[in-house]
Amino acid sequence: MKHTEASSEAGAALLRQIPAVDELLARAALRELAARLGRGDLSIVSVDVLENEIVAATETSVEPSLRAVVNATGVILHTNLGRAPLAPVAARRAAEIASRYSNLEYDLERGERGRRDAHTDRLFRRLLGAEMTLVVNNNAAAMFLALNTIAEGGEVVVSRGELIEIGGSFRIPDISAKSGAVLREVGTTNRTRISDFEAAINERTRALVRVHPSNFRIVGFTERPELREMVELARNHGLPLIEDLGSGCLVDLGPHGIEGEPLAGESLKAGVDVVTFSGDKLLGGPQAGVLTGSRPWLERIRKNPLFRALRVDKLTIAALEATVALYLGGDLRAIPALAMIQASKDEIAERAGRLAERLLARAGVSARLEDGESVIGGGSTPGSSLPPRLVSIRVEGLSAAELAARLRRSRPPVIARVERGEVLLDLRTVLGGEDELVSKAFEKIALECA
Ligand SMILES: *Cc1c(COP(=O)(O)O)cnc(C)c1O
Repeated sequence: MKHTEASSEAGAALLRQIPAVDELLARAALRELAARLGRGDLSIVSVDVLENEIVAATETSVEPSLRAVVNATGVILHTNLGRAPLAPVAARRAAEIASRYSNLEYDLERGERGRRDAHTDRLFRRLLGAEMTLVVNNNAAAMFLALNTIAEGGEVVVSRGELIEIGGSFRIPDISAKSGAVLREVGTTNRTRISDFEAAINERTRALVRVHPSNFRIVGFTERPELREMVELARNHGLPLIEDLGSGCLVDLGPHGIEGEPLAGESLKAGVDVVTFSGDKLLGGPQAGVLTGSRPWLERIRKNPLFRALRVDKLTIAALEATVALYLGGDLRAIPALAMIQASKDEIAERAGRLAERLLARAGVSARLEDGESVIGGGSTPGSSLPPRLVSIRVEGLSAAELAARLRRSRPPVIARVERGEVLLDLRTVLGGEDELVSKAFEKIALECA
């Protein structure tokens, strides 16, 4: 009985909170609305609408802010959607290490303090033949740390054709300035020769820097020194060569339509002293910045107090180790970003066909299949795109923008592309098992519109 009394009291309290209609209409925003639309139009606020709004507002307020979404944009490494999804085995490793104690910095052989970088160092040695590897927060941190350690107070030489900006305000000139290195630009936007680098070397020079122009292409009348020329020039002057590879491509993706991505292993073999790349782009792992290369330079970088400030936590190490282990085992299909790149047009077309049938049968929504393009994204391979079949959708009575907005409000949110007044779904980036969620989202929208 107590319980009922309590809930009826709570009910009464809630009722007292409902404002009188006159009080509502007297408020500034509603007065302005009534003046604009006429008071009659305001009466469309029904109990149904209020009910839905209250449910939606309350659900949203208790939900986590960071949530899983369905990526139907076709952009595989979508920076706004979290770049590479982890392989399930990598996510499980991170969860296990997160919820238990670990030998993060403990040498199990000797029973004494160990190094947290030992875990990934071992794997990159096996995979890339690297003498030594360090992992920091992201590639921006990796470049900052390399430049700060090697070139603070001196100069670094970079080609004008490689002074890139990556989305999210990573700019080579700004990173270099903050690291305390003076940037010496050589060559021109489209053509830089090895002799331009050579002419810029002076007693203040601390390093030569090469940057992968990952998110744009300069085509036409262009020239860029060969990597081997850069290595030779650096050697002859007793300088280190630092290379920012951007994407961290570890295997040749040429057979899967990704041409011209430089491989980290090739740079090391060519003799680059410090190679940096991201963990969550083409590598397909967690957000991280990998610094790999020759031991003397990496040991210096490790001694920089900023390394302590930029180091990664055990979750990242666990996920990265598990991801790199998949490369070592040759199990590339287990890495979602690589599986998406490798998915054939036929596979995607078949899924698109099945989704279109389901949408018609269950939601009464008619979808059209058309050809289109997926892109890699994340500042990778601007020249390449992958061919998918797209599902193009119209829902009676909804504009493309309104339909896309409703998809974003679905649970889980579905992020689609809107192009030329159409909502397009690209299943290349929709994970296995999520097609059903997309279908459910449409069923709900169709019900709301009925
Ligand atoms: C993406 C990218 C970066 C930045 O990497 P983050 O891991 O996002 O910090 C730096 N340089 C190049 C060439 C890139 O492509």
